[in-house]
Amino acid sequence: MRLLIVEDNLELADLISRGVNAAGYDVDIVSGVEDTRAALASVNYVAMALDLGLPDGDGMSLLRELRAGHESIPVLVLTARGGVQDRVSGLKAGADDYLVKPFAIEEMVARIEAILRRPGHLLGRSLTLGNLTFDTEGRQILISGEPRLLSGRELNVLELLLRRQGRVVPKKTLEDQIFGLGGDVASNAVEVYVSRLRKQLEELGATVQIRTIRGVGYLLSEIK
Ligand code: CA
Repeated sequence: MRLLIVEDNLELADLISRGVNAAGYDVDIVSGVEDTRAALASVNYVAMALDLGLPDGDGMSLLRELRAGHESIPVLVLTARGGVQDRVSGLKAGADDYLVKPFAIEEMVARIEAILRRPGHLLGRSLTLGNLTFDTEGRQILISGEPRLLSGRELNVLELLLRRQGRVVPKKTLEDQIFGLGGDVASNAVEVYVSRLRKQLEELGATVQIRTIRGVGYLLSEIK
């Protein structure tokens, strides 16, 4: 259970980090918009706490951009902007909850746990593209509503591609996801899993396709 904390006030980030660590979560801390994009592209976090005033941009715009790109990670916004209008626009931008500074770390942990207890569809635990639905909780896929079997590693590949649907997923990201960071991996391992996955999706009649973007990675899109 790894959380991403986006906070440029390092003292506060450190406090948060110790608080959520004590509650049993692993934590990565980043302090800007660019670093957040990079972190989300390489690690599957269970949730993210997002400060709005960041040195290289605005957290709210980032959140809108992530949601527009089908990023479904649960987001708790942390901000000094506590007006009703600010809360409403935060929730409209795709925040799952909103916490006004200053706050007690215990409250933040409680809010994150509340978000994580919500039903799966509110957390993007069910991912859909074309006639394909992926139940990330039950670790199974449905094609046109029918449950189908895929092996574990192909499922992991599919999940990552689905979470980033419409965007190119770098081969390295898939490698890290399938084999863990720093794993010792045969250079063609990702190709092997992607090609197996592609074949199975085709056999099952899924209306999605995985395109290879040479030298970059893979792109999952709907066949229309
Ligand atoms: Ca800030």
